[in-house]
Amino acid sequence: MILLDGKKTANDIKEEIAVEVASLISAGGKKPHLAAILVGSDGASETYVNAKVKACNKVGFQSTLVRFTNDVTEEELLAEVEKINNNSDIDGLIVQLPLPKHIDEMKVTETILPSKDVDGFHPANIGRMALNLPTFLPATPAGILELLKRYEVETSGKHCVVIGRSHIVGSPMSILMARNSNPGNCTVTLTHSRTNNLKEITKTADILIVALGKAEFVTTDMVKKEVCIIDVGITRVKSDKTKSGWKLLGDVDFEKVKEKSSFITPVPGGVGPMTIAMLLKNTLVSAKK
Ligand code: NAD
Repeated sequence: MILLDGKKTANDIKEEIAVEVASLISAGGKKPHLAAILVGSDGASETYVNAKVKACNKVGFQSTLVRFTNDVTEEELLAEVEKINNNSDIDGLIVQLPLPKHIDEMKVTETILPSKDVDGFHPANIGRMALNLPTFLPATPAGILELLKRYEVETSGKHCVVIGRSHIVGSPMSILMARNSNPGNCTVTLTHSRTNNLKEITKTADILIVALGKAEFVTTDMVKKEVCIIDVGITRVKSDKTKSGWKLLGDVDFEKVKEKSSFITPVPGGVGPMTIAMLLKNTLVSAKK
């Protein structure tokens, strides 16, 4: 079994980005600049945004964090997005999801300029991705592709099963793994909560990408020998063994499933750090334009 070490790979990518930033600046360019909008004070969102800001500092980017309280109106939020769209100093904009119920997330996403949409969620960028045109790929799927590439996991002709059809992970992942590219060229089955006989399908997977958000959902009887497992799930559970009182679990029963796998991502330290690294990469690409 080979561990797909997202933490190490993400650090390698960050070092590569830092070198590029230094050469941009020494050539008279400016620092790439990422803006993030955070609404409310949800613990998980706060953690994700702080990690992104910290990563920006690490690679030499400028970052701006705009905070709103939960009672911000949709109008006010859209006005801020427009303001950042029009600020030529800012290269990339992310709005941390989820947003409060009274705000239409899709409307906010559609208001972000596609050329600053470094999360790759804008319908125009999703369309370009589906057509295999250059674009910002959604950060989590892009991070998974990068891991597969750097660990030279063979994907061509393989059966890839994806669990979960969210707009940010499962659906784009299924499109990317089916594209005529490397990684890619898989035969893909996209499964979800209405799928019948899920276990029969997952047992045929050469590559299993799991993004449903249910801790340790995938068990050994659901996979075949030598499977490559990508575990996207992050669930916080109480633990009396950690100082913080909680720990993170993935969607896969890691300790048991790893014995049957050829490759597997851990949680934490797998897909999570790769997501942030790819967000930085998208921002660098935007700045270079
Ligand atoms: P989501 O919560 O929006 O949707 C879950 C999906 O799982 C749905 O499409 C649903 O149909 C499917 N599903 C639910 N129960 C199922 C079942 N029993 N069988 C088959 N399919 C089922 O998904 P999301 O936003 O992609 O998040 C999934 C998980 O990934 C969460 O734990 C989230 O925290 C995590 N996540 C991690 C990263 C990262 O960077 N590591 C990024 C995004 C999401």
